[in-house]
Amino acid sequence: MSGAFRPDMRRAEAGDLLATAFGKAGFEDCRLMARRLLADALRVEPGELFLHPDRLIGETAERLGPALSRALKGEPLTRIAGRRSFCGRDFRVTPDVLDPRPETELLVEEMLKRLAGQRAPRLLDLGTGSGAIILTLLAEIPEATGVAVDLSPAALAVAGGNAEALGVAGRVAFHHGDLFAGLAGPFDAILSNPPYIPSADLAGLELAVRDFDPPLALDGGPDGLAFYRRIAGEARAFLMPGGWLGVELGAGQSESVIALMEAAGFQDMAIRYDLAGHARHLLGRG
Ligand code: GLN
Repeated sequence: MSGAFRPDMRRAEAGDLLATAFGKAGFEDCRLMARRLLADALRVEPGELFLHPDRLIGETAERLGPALSRALKGEPLTRIAGRRSFCGRDFRVTPDVLDPRPETELLVEEMLKRLAGQRAPRLLDLGTGSGAIILTLLAEIPEATGVAVDLSPAALAVAGGNAEALGVAGRVAFHHGDLFAGLAGPFDAILSNPPYIPSADLAGLELAVRDFDPPLALDGGPDGLAFYRRIAGEARAFLMPGGWLGVELGAGQSESVIALMEAAGFQDMAIRYDLAGHARHLLGRG
């Protein structure tokens, strides 16, 4: 297949070839995948791809074959591109970080509502990964500052690069550590999309997650709740009075995490449901 793409091939032809390959391999959304893979390889937006369907693909031909074979083996297109759009901004993703998912944008949206009108809020992101959550908030709230924590130095390096690219590096401190260890509060808001998969379920995850997201970003301990227990238990000591905690939830975890946050004294709790109707985020006031 890799020899099939030539520099003198037109965009439309390359798109057809990719769609056919995805179709033959049994991918249902083969047209969409073809467009995205081609757009990523050409480094253009999918929307502008076929404004010029007759343009030649040129040296991109060399990248298409290898990219297609990775995609056919089930690697997510965001991983192949090494980039992911989150809340309309471009984030670099590497094998060291969780690929930020669209559902996580809802946590950012909810926290933005709660921080509206607050001057210069100070934010904390626990397990920042690519930095998607806190860097988006910093980009949206020009006076905000924050601390981004991760246990993985490699993840912090990726988040640091993303902070530079987004022009917010001057307002975020990166901290290598285990949740709250070594931090000094208070914060106006604490956010986390922690690892929440029960350890025994890791092996049975869909391939795109199991083989491409780092295990450190997924493993939530025996019942998947290990990080929520620690975050709920310690967060209020690091929050301003009335400050907010917002966490993403794994499947079926809302009741347990509500109970943990209630026991810790959080109030005004609210769940944000995703488009599939799952309780996806929980926010509460400390
Ligand atoms: N905070 C990052 C995100 O939401 C990483 C989360 C994680 O690695 N569990 O994308």
